[in-house]
Amino acid sequence: MNQDRHAHHQQHGDRYAAEATPFIEEKEMSALECTTMATLRDLLRLSPDALIVVSHEGSIVFANKQMVALFGYRQEELIGQPLECLLPERFRTAHVAHRTTYTAAPRMRSMGAGLNLFGKRKDGSEFPVDISLRPVLVGDTVHVIGAIRDMTIQRLLEQERLQQAERLRMQADLINLSRDAILVRDPISRILSWNHGAEELYGWTAQEVLGRITHTLLKTRFSGSQATIDAQLEREGRWEGELHHIHRDGHVVIVESRQVLIRNPQGSATAILEINRDITERRQVEQAQSRIHATTISQRTFLQQILDSLPSSIYVVHGKDARLVLANRAAATIWGAVWPLEQPMQTFLETHTIAIVDQQGQQFPSEAWATMRALLHGETVFQHQEFIRQPTGKSLPILVNAVPLTSAYWHSVETPETQENQPHEQEPLALVVHQDVSALKETEYLKDEFIGIAAHELRTPLAILKTSVSSMIVQTARGHGPQLADWQQEMLQDIEYATDRLTDLTEDLLDVTRLQAGQIVLQRAPTNMISLAQRVVERFRQTATRHHLELRTEHTTLEAPIDPRRIEQVLTNLLSNAIKYSPQGGPVTVQLEANIAAQSVDVRVQDAGIGIPQQQQAQIFGRFMRADNAKAAGITGTGLGLYLCRTLIEQHGGRLWFESKEGKGTTFFLTLPLATPDTTDTISYR
Ligand code: ADP
Repeated sequence: MNQDRHAHHQQHGDRYAAEATPFIEEKEMSALECTTMATLRDLLRLSPDALIVVSHEGSIVFANKQMVALFGYRQEELIGQPLECLLPERFRTAHVAHRTTYTAAPRMRSMGAGLNLFGKRKDGSEFPVDISLRPVLVGDTVHVIGAIRDMTIQRLLEQERLQQAERLRMQADLINLSRDAILVRDPISRILSWNHGAEELYGWTAQEVLGRITHTLLKTRFSGSQATIDAQLEREGRWEGELHHIHRDGHVVIVESRQVLIRNPQGSATAILEINRDITERRQVEQAQSRIHATTISQRTFLQQILDSLPSSIYVVHGKDARLVLANRAAATIWGAVWPLEQPMQTFLETHTIAIVDQQGQQFPSEAWATMRALLHGETVFQHQEFIRQPTGKSLPILVNAVPLTSAYWHSVETPETQENQPHEQEPLALVVHQDVSALKETEYLKDEFIGIAAHELRTPLAILKTSVSSMIVQTARGHGPQLADWQQEMLQDIEYATDRLTDLTEDLLDVTRLQAGQIVLQRAPTNMISLAQRVVERFRQTATRHHLELRTEHTTLEAPIDPRRIEQVLTNLLSNAIKYSPQGGPVTVQLEANIAAQSVDVRVQDAGIGIPQQQQAQIFGRFMRADNAKAAGITGTGLGLYLCRTLIEQHGGRLWFESKEGKGTTFFLTLPLATPDTTDTISYR
């Protein structure tokens, strides 16, 4: 009832003041004026509102039952009290002033409009009130009738209504703020509401689309049909799925659509709320990604097919523990077992009892494997001779080429599926090729034997030839025998030179066959590498006049347990090459230093000569191997020196490699351990 009245009050504004005293109509005023207090009292008692009569001086003359109920005072407690006792203390003083003004010129009015008036009950509690006043003459004194209404519920309702309006406003804002298209359509798909998001997504304004049919407007392409969506909405109340719409300008918009059926209290469908999120870009990216993925996969498969059809074993490893990235079919044949992806090399070998050994059957320590050298030192290892002892015990001679790859290269071959286990950026990566040379070994053995015998047989006649020629030259010079013509002398010198070269060749050949047969045993002795190097450099200084030979080192002694004859042979060979292959002359530098961390002596021999062509670098340590540019320049040689050098250095437990640029020069690097594998004594150096 209160609510109804309240509504009424809203509609009729200050007419309410008259209504608050419905029993005293305007036209009855004159009758009332003559009314006695007793009659007035009876009349007021009948009113459903709380009414009070206040004397001209402001004291309460009468209060009806509703008044008593509203304020909690008994009637007799109220009578005679000043009106202000019904107000909270803070309003009292001001009210006395108002009342005085009012009684000076009394008129009918409502007091509540726009004001927050409060009453105070006997128990001290306050409550919002609405008050209407009306002057009345009782006898000859002006009294005032006040109608007081408890506004608690109305105020609460009012507050709630305001809050609700605010909520609705915020919801509307949110709907419009949303970048999703939010639309409401009726059960036959006519558009009822269309937010900013929808305007932006589809290019139509709300005004243009209201009342139009969604799927006609948007030329919807369903995976099923509108009927299936409607059926599910009817059955389950909601539907979610992907739809293809057409924008006003004709382009396709792919949306993730969520639809909810709204029913009225009677249960019949009234509307469908549809929220469409634009996923066009996401879908396009996904499609592009899956196309790239498919291409990469097919490229990888193609690459794998090519690799699998190659007879040599090829694999790629990464990390300091050489975990497998990819391998071809031949790899499994050479190992005699299948190496699982991502398994470290050592684990793989141990699991299958596979060993990597040298010619004599000695196991290589793992850091000496070509694969590890490429991974750990970034070294390019060409034609490294290793033997693989397969799980069956069978030994397979192989030549290993191991090349460090850059990580950048690896990233360009990565695929989404390997992204998780892709090597870390700084991780080393190496490509390793194993060439099974067992078929060659047999013929090689026969050839080695033949060479060995031939070289051996050549030694004696060569020695005789050399002595004869030398003594002929010497004796003629001393005037023994007839004088020789110039051309005869030149020929003798040519013979002597050729004999020297033949002797060198046979010595090299013999060394090669001895090495092949494992017959070279190192005669190790603590040797000062510095004086050894000085000796070699000095010897070359005598003849190499066009070159600037320099020995650089910070040490005076650098002692290592080496076979001095063999290391001298190696240095001689490297230095002789450096001079020979820089025919224009130029600097040739030999540098020696102690590497304390690696416990090794590091030697480098550098020239600024013709260099080694890139495409022949992989084979240069092979026997009889000579680069094309060396031959083209008419520089003579056997192609055995580097092979011997490397084998001898490796026999010492060291390593030999190079860096070279054709036309720019070559640097050979050599490291020799400062301690023999069986002694742990540290060798002194200063
Ligand atoms: P050779 O007797 O031909 O010098 P080596 O085994 O010592 O034989 O060297 C093999 C080949 O390597 C040479 O023929 C030459 O092509 C190349 N080579 C070796 N050292 C150098 C160098 N310092 N500069 C350029 N090429 C070199």
